[in-house]
Amino acid sequence: MKKGSLFVVSAPSGCGKGTILGEVFKENNAYYSVSCTTRSPREGEKDGVHYHFITKETFKDLISDDGFLEYAQYSDNFYGTPKAPVVEKLSQGIDVILEIEPQGAFQVKKSCDFANLIFILPPSVGELKRRLNKRGTEKQEVIQKRVDAAAKEIEASVDYDFVIMNDDLDPAIADFKSIIEYVKSGNAKENSKFSPKNENIKQMIKGVLENA
Ligand code: 5GP
Repeated sequence: MKKGSLFVVSAPSGCGKGTILGEVFKENNAYYSVSCTTRSPREGEKDGVHYHFITKETFKDLISDDGFLEYAQYSDNFYGTPKAPVVEKLSQGIDVILEIEPQGAFQVKKSCDFANLIFILPPSVGELKRRLNKRGTEKQEVIQKRVDAAAKEIEASVDYDFVIMNDDLDPAIADFKSIIEYVKSGNAKENSKFSPKNENIKQMIKGVLENA
């Protein structure tokens, strides 16, 4: 049986990644990996749906049991992808989507070189801060920490396979869909117009970082 494709998607929080993925994969039976995290649930988040909310002790036990495909520390909390469901779904021919930050994405790339790493850029670092403030779920100091982390993540996007920008939702969804088609047709990642090896994409990343 043909293995499923693995899509690893990163975007600083507040980039609209959830909305894009919801649209892109709504008619597709892809499996969304539910991560484990040691952070507290935000309002409206459900255990087992948005995350498995677990203690630091349980997280450490899972590390010792080799239960994670990857894990990372981010903003004082730990996040990890449970390994077993990902391996199972891929072997059943089902596409798998991971929404994780870059440290984790590069770990996945190391163990699964067939993974497709996709980065969604905000229009600018300044705009990202405005969006996080508008969401209003976090305190100022937490927002500033996330903005600083976002700038670091954006720098890492040059090592992804594909980079798109969510300036306008519809074009971003269309770009994402065309990347999936591109991958599914068996094309070489580095030849894609969304590859950061491409000069336009390099300039786009630079612009986002400069526009704070
Ligand atoms: P948030 O706290 O906003 O839900 O997530 C913070 C960051 O952690 C986001 O960039 C999100 O993509 C990332 N993240 C979520 N789950 C995982 C995971 O399992 N592994 C890693 N490495 N990052 C994750």
